[in-house]
Formats: sequence, C-alpha cells, structure tokens
Amino acid sequence: MNAAFDPAALVRPDLDGLVPYQVHIHHNVIKLDANENPYDFPPSIREEIWRELGNHTFTRYPDPVAGDLVDRLSDYTGVPAGGILAGNGSDELILTLLLTFGTGGRVVITPPTFSMYEVHARIAGARPVNVPRRQNFILDTPGVIAAARHPETRVIFLCSPNNPTGNATPPEEVAEILKNSRALVVVDEAYQEFGGESCVPLLEEYSNLVVLRTFSKAFGLAGLRVGYLLADPAVVQQLLRIKQPFNLNAFSQLAARTVMARREEFGQLINQILQDREELYRELAALPGVEVFPTVANFILFRTPLPAEQVYRELLANGILIRNMHSPGLEQCLRVTVGKKDENRLFLEKLKMILGL
Ligand SMILES: *Cc1c(COP(=O)(O)O)cnc(C)c1O
Repeated sequence: MNAAFDPAALVRPDLDGLVPYQVHIHHNVIKLDANENPYDFPPSIREEIWRELGNHTFTRYPDPVAGDLVDRLSDYTGVPAGGILAGNGSDELILTLLLTFGTGGRVVITPPTFSMYEVHARIAGARPVNVPRRQNFILDTPGVIAAARHPETRVIFLCSPNNPTGNATPPEEVAEILKNSRALVVVDEAYQEFGGESCVPLLEEYSNLVVLRTFSKAFGLAGLRVGYLLADPAVVQQLLRIKQPFNLNAFSQLAARTVMARREEFGQLINQILQDREELYRELAALPGVEVFPTVANFILFRTPLPAEQVYRELLANGILIRNMHSPGLEQCLRVTVGKKDENRLFLEKLKMILGL
C-alpha cells in the first residue's frame, strides 16, 4: 500500500467543491420530481421495439452517428441530417458542446435555470457567468447581449421553456441575441413538445444557433438516455471531433427511432398532460398564501408560506415526491411535475393538509 497516494490531490483544483449529482431513490412514492412522462409507455410501441430487437445481436458496435435515428429526426424537425447530432441524453451533448467550444472561455447562464449548464461548464474548464433573470423570470435580453459581447464569451445557454420556472422566451428575443453574438447560442428545448414557440425556424438564418432536444420528457424514454441537437452542419462537424465515437448505444438508437416513427401516438398523452396541468394550476393558484408561476411546460413552480424543505419532507412522508427548489431567487419555492389525474389530486390534498387549509 502506498500511504502517500491521495486521489483528491490528482484532481484539478478548480474542481474543488464539485459534488456528485444527488439522486435519492424513493420506492413506493408518487414520483412528481423529475418532469418525466407519467404514463406507461404505449404497449403497442413497446411491442414493436421488442419485435425489432428480435433481429439484433448486440455483438457489434453501434452506428457512431445513429444514422437511422437521425433520418427520423430530420423528418420530425425539418432539419437536414447533416445538422443533427444524437447523444446519450442531452446532458451528454451539453458536456460535448462545452468541451468543444467552452473550455478556457466564458459560458453565459441565466439563473434560475437548469443546473447542468454550470456543472458541465466547470467540468469543461469554462468560466460560468450569470445573467440572472428579471421579475417573473423573464430573460434579461440586454444583459445577455452585453455578456455576449465580452471577447471571451464562447457559449450562451438559454432554456425555453425554462426549467424550473416554466416560462418560454419568444424566438424574436433569441434572434436579437443571435444577431448580436459571435458566441454559440444554445437553446435547450427539452420541454418544447409541451409548449412555447420553437427556435428551430431560426436555424435557417443563424449559423451560431444550437437547439437541444430530448426523448426524456414528452417521449417517455428517460431511462434510455437519448437526446439530440440541431445546428449548422459546420457546428456538428466540430462536435464530431470531440464526442465519444459510440456515445449512443444500439438499443437506445432502436427504441428512439421506433418512438419517432410512431410519435403521433404520444400526442394524446401530451394533450392529457396539458389539460391536467391547467386544472392543477388553477387549484394551486386558488390556495391562500400560495404563489404559482405561469408555465407552458409539464411542471409547475410555486411558492408556499412555509419553508420549502418542510413542505418537501411532509409531502414525502405522505408518499409524494416533488422537488425542493429553495435557492437565491427561488425562496420557499418547489416544483411539481404534472402527473396522472389521481396523482395530482392526491398531491393537492396532501399539500392542503400540510398548509393547514
Ligand atoms: C430534463 C432536462 C433535460 C434532459 O436531459 P437528458 O439528459 O436528455 O435526459 C435537458 N435539459 C433540461 C432543461 C431538462 O430539464
């Protein structure tokens, strides 16, 4: 044994303070914490995946560019195949974008927003620069443009609809930023299937735009890790130099392209979620002392009169898991995913009880 060996001493000092991503596994709870599709995967699509699987031995490496899936995605988005890159979840693509374009430079983030932009910026050796959102979580567009003008700014992350606040940024505002930026502008549209206007049409005009999408939310494949990005083919060519050659496994490629081929069947589930979101929103907004923020996604951010940690814990003790978002700018806030009707009803019932209503 070598007593002098200290693995921590071998890690870059700028990563001090980075902690493992925390996921607490809870069994037998109503899971409204991660914005997944609450419905069972459509049985007929699952059967089709099993059928296709019949021809597959997994002895060979997968297609490094997921060509069949990319063709389906081209059909879905209208973006030519050369401008599409699939990844092992959009999380992987966020890291690949930052390793390719961000390292050594500045990365603009607009909190409160998705935490992975900052985490991956740090891992990639880029400096995260915050341009906080304004009242009602509206994007500070002039602030973002000012940050974009800094010569070291390489990448700007915008999330629309924004997680965890639920509001979208109009494409006209994104275009304003694109026009005034030599940096890459990444618009994360993980929740686009639920609402908000897409920035995909802007791709024709702006070669510095990247649109990120995922199969983890509306399309119910969170467990298989499939995301993709849409960009100018020249941007994709740069990313191909950096990404792991076999980043997306064969099974996930097969499942995702089957989902794309039968995507209309998800429309009904999405509509049901949107309808139930309206109902949940109305009922939350009717609770005295509760502030609810407008949303176009499949989750709702709200502020309670009690400490968020207390509400979180008491809901969990009652079998309901949501997300405690308490942090600067989100004091006493929690985020709940729109579930099935009976799940939403139970959540409301328990919340009322906890709040003494
Ligand atoms: C859930 C989520 C993703 C999805 O990540 P995957 O790695 O594709 O599962 C990406 N961006 C945002 C803002 C999200 O909320």
